[in-house]
Amino acid sequence: MQPLTQSSAAVQPESVIAAIRDVTGEGTHILHEPYFPGNEKAYVFSCIEDGWVSSVGSFVDRFEKDLATACGAKHAVVVANGTVALQMALHASGLQPGEEVLLPALTFVATANAVMHAGGVPHFVDCEETSLGMCPDALEAYLKQIVSSKDGKAVNSKTGRRIRALMPVHIFGHPCQMDKLARIAHTYQLELIEDAAEALGSESGGKKIGSQHMAAFSFNGNKILTTGGGGAVTTNDAAQYQKIKHLTTTAKQPHAWDFVHDEVAWNFRLPNLNAALGCAQLETLPDFLRAKRALAQRYIEAFSNIDSGAAILTEPEGTKSNYWLVALKLDACEQPQLEHMLAALHEAGLLCRPLWKPLHSLPIYADCPRAGLPVTKRMAQCIINVPSSVKLGLPYVS
Ligand SMILES: *Cc1c(COP(=O)(O)O)cnc(C)c1O
Repeated sequence: MQPLTQSSAAVQPESVIAAIRDVTGEGTHILHEPYFPGNEKAYVFSCIEDGWVSSVGSFVDRFEKDLATACGAKHAVVVANGTVALQMALHASGLQPGEEVLLPALTFVATANAVMHAGGVPHFVDCEETSLGMCPDALEAYLKQIVSSKDGKAVNSKTGRRIRALMPVHIFGHPCQMDKLARIAHTYQLELIEDAAEALGSESGGKKIGSQHMAAFSFNGNKILTTGGGGAVTTNDAAQYQKIKHLTTTAKQPHAWDFVHDEVAWNFRLPNLNAALGCAQLETLPDFLRAKRALAQRYIEAFSNIDSGAAILTEPEGTKSNYWLVALKLDACEQPQLEHMLAALHEAGLLCRPLWKPLHSLPIYADCPRAGLPVTKRMAQCIINVPSSVKLGLPYVS
């Protein structure tokens, strides 16, 4: 490829390709491949053998129990995918139609979709450079400006709508500053729901993500572990747990034979087949985490050896990231350089991806309320995810 004219601080694609190759070796690499090294086949096969493939079965109960344990939460409900996990968490938190939910503009579209499906209004806020997650300082300053309090409840003085919930997202597995965000949520009486779709196994202040607040996880094929498709909500609140169980199982009252449904609800259950896969994957989660963290460490070393201009985004202080996707931050990067870099990487068989388009820039979400988003806009054109599959990290586990 012809080099693009660049400022002297900008890193050249050849150096980036060489550093990535140093870690991944030869071959074509996608961002994240699933890996099934354990009891996956045996458990799925046993479902087929005994006929329990659908919405009830022993693997569903076991997966919920094991997952709650793995996350340090009292309860877990497994569901069809991460998006509906978020939607159900919002319903269980008491979100009413037309109420606003604060979420980062920098996230996967599913976070905002879940708010819409739950009848809420997405309200976008800015991220911080260190974790790429919601910035507590910017959030606090913004809320001071726009919130008027009615009966102790936070109302957006610009729209007149109640702001009901705060939904931070742990981007690429790097935990947000949850203590600060929890304090803000408390001050403004906001429900706190973590979009932990990318953060299974991550920790903040020595505590597992999912152990402190209601959190939603995803087990989509590209996440750290997969059930094919699937998700979960963890909570320490028995009433919320009951509510989510009820809403995701057609709101059927328990009865030996009768069909009494007391709400218009959903069938969002995770089939036993998928839960079987989940049980096997969860057994290997500690190994997966070691591999992911070793891989990230190798990338950090490889990129510290090249000329300045690019560096791996490391876990924020006081946290332990699952490094779901390893992110490379380019200095002095603008949209044309980013495109040029991605084209060169793809040509070399490294199927890297940029950040999502900030959600306020999608026409479907352009009319939503939002804070100033200077960091989001800047980050959107200088981050690239590099191949991060568990398998790539295995050789580096010491
Ligand atoms: C993957 C993901 C989701 C949605 O999960 P699905 O299982 O694909 O529905 C939500 N939020 C974030 C941040 C995600 O990465």
